[in-house]
Amino acid sequence: MQSKSAIRRGNKGRKELVKAHRRIASRMHANAKKRGHAKSLYKNAITYQAAAASYTEAMLRNILNANDNRVSQNASLLMHCITSIADGMRTEAYRNGFSIGKELYRMLNSDKHYETYEESIPGLVSFFENAGLGNVAYAAFEDMLSLDVYSNEHRYVGSSIHVFESGIISGFVSSGRRNYSIISERACANNNSDHCEFVLEGTGYRGAEPVNGNIKGKELLDMLLGHIHRPHYSNEYLSSSYMALLSAVVADRRYIGEMNSIMRYIGSSIGDTLAKKGASSRLQGMLNVLDSIYTGMVEVRSKKPMSFIMSFDGTKLNEAYVRLSLSLVEGIFSRAYSTKKMKAIEINRYNLHKIKIAEER
Ligand SMILES: [Zn+2]
Repeated sequence: MQSKSAIRRGNKGRKELVKAHRRIASRMHANAKKRGHAKSLYKNAITYQAAAASYTEAMLRNILNANDNRVSQNASLLMHCITSIADGMRTEAYRNGFSIGKELYRMLNSDKHYETYEESIPGLVSFFENAGLGNVAYAAFEDMLSLDVYSNEHRYVGSSIHVFESGIISGFVSSGRRNYSIISERACANNNSDHCEFVLEGTGYRGAEPVNGNIKGKELLDMLLGHIHRPHYSNEYLSSSYMALLSAVVADRRYIGEMNSIMRYIGSSIGDTLAKKGASSRLQGMLNVLDSIYTGMVEVRSKKPMSFIMSFDGTKLNEAYVRLSLSLVEGIFSRAYSTKKMKAIEINRYNLHKIKIAEER
């Protein structure tokens, strides 16, 4: 896979990326020609690749310009835990973060023309603060870097969960230092520390992304469930563009089957708790949980028979994210309303993804 490794080498950069895209497109073209529907597939390949590059840039600009709506802490905790649930996911989250960090450096550097990497760190710090991760303190020297992120999110999950952020810092710093720079999260606010601490571990690619091997997926999931059952009220919110970049890892096509199962599992566990309640408090409980994850996105149409709609901004959140949410909702219904059949339909119009959920009569 020549093209894939070209993409991983990243910023060497955009020229190579464009070449790789062309190779993919021309290969698709050749394959499609054999099957006799060359034109449309070729076109789709080009559009898709171009869209992917400008999509990341657009999301990063939203965050840098603080021009963004926000998502809840529960949504953010859910996604951070899920990107940490297994070593494979952590590797993907780090890699995705890495390419985003590189892109962020490219964008900021084209404006500021940094002479040393230390000069670039305040840009990275503002980026994280604008994204809503918390207040950031840092120390940057030639061979030493630490970033301390202070947020209000301290719910204990028994593991460090900010591997995506480690990847962003790694990509950003690797660009500035012109050397692959390994970043790890040494302490995490969701694992008995009052802040998250990211440090530069060393230099040079060692043939694999750094992954902490102490993750126990089931325990992490149970911890997450303990929190996600309850609505969480906090003044802190995460940028929705940042959330979109984070959730792209989870929505990766290679893992989507497993991720749907995990979301359904989370949903059914929530549903089990709700099933013990009476009809009206069950409905209210479900709406509370959904609202605590999808704040402002859930609209109740009718309570009897029950019908509601969830809307997703299609310019940010992709279809896979919508599908994952649908799995969560299906999981809740399958347990909370086992006697009634629920129907979930996807409606896609313009840039809005909608899920309509209604009691089947
Ligand atoms: Zn952390």
